[in-house]
Amino acid sequence: MTVITRFAPSPTGYLHLGHAASALFSMKQAGPHGRFLLRIEDIDQTRCRPEYLDAIYEDLAWLGLGWEQPVRVQSEHFADYQAVLDRLTDMGLLYPCFCTRKDIQAEIERIGNAPHGPDGALYPGTCRHCSAQERSDRIAAGESYALRLDMDAAIGRVGRELVWFDRSAGRQVATPEIFGDVVLARKDTPTSYHISVTHDDHLQGISLITRGQDLFFASHLHRLMQELLGYDVPEYHHHGLLTGPDGKRFAKRDKSKTLRSMREEGMTPDAVRDLADQF
Ligand code: GLU
Repeated sequence: MTVITRFAPSPTGYLHLGHAASALFSMKQAGPHGRFLLRIEDIDQTRCRPEYLDAIYEDLAWLGLGWEQPVRVQSEHFADYQAVLDRLTDMGLLYPCFCTRKDIQAEIERIGNAPHGPDGALYPGTCRHCSAQERSDRIAAGESYALRLDMDAAIGRVGRELVWFDRSAGRQVATPEIFGDVVLARKDTPTSYHISVTHDDHLQGISLITRGQDLFFASHLHRLMQELLGYDVPEYHHHGLLTGPDGKRFAKRDKSKTLRSMREEGMTPDAVRDLADQF
């Protein structure tokens, strides 16, 4: 079977050494006989900027990476993600949530000792209990809302243990419940990372998902979504995260470590590749 991998950056800043390491790792895993894809994850139009998109193509090419054309750019496919949301709605697994951040915070404080997941305190479920009438009245009145997954219903629908395999951590039993009723779409971004990444990985036939360990837990949720949507189950390899001399993870805010600043300082692509070739 041909190995198909992808590197899927978001154009919200310039790429840094950690991105170079991740992209190189992905390309290496595809190997000479596999396929390596680049995908642009720009669903959050408030944070993405065209100059960062141009820089992704330019910096990766400078580094000597090649990828297949055409590149899938997620902002061109909102209709696809809407169709996925519609399928989950038809299964009765999504519900509108009208809560503001403040409402959620107040409810969490009221309950006390709220369970926490990878993204912080779990949603306390306030809007899960709204009647159909209340939902349609509030939507008709123009109230803004997000769509949340009814996690218990989703797990109940699958009705069996789900597993996935990570090449560095081994066999995993999926525990999507750690996310609670996670948001799958917002009014200003009518999809979410979880929807678009799961859909696109399936659509593009990605057989090995490589990405940083910071997204390890997300795979528990993605495994559930693959099952609900009848998608193929890829293998995973969550790699380590590069840290700077201070021991902190590289982040987009560390301007000194961007690939373009290294290039401007006169470093060669080979030298940067050597630094990035760590996994
Ligand atoms: N777009 C995500 C990021 O830039 C990566 C998503 C993934 O590899 O699954 O962090």
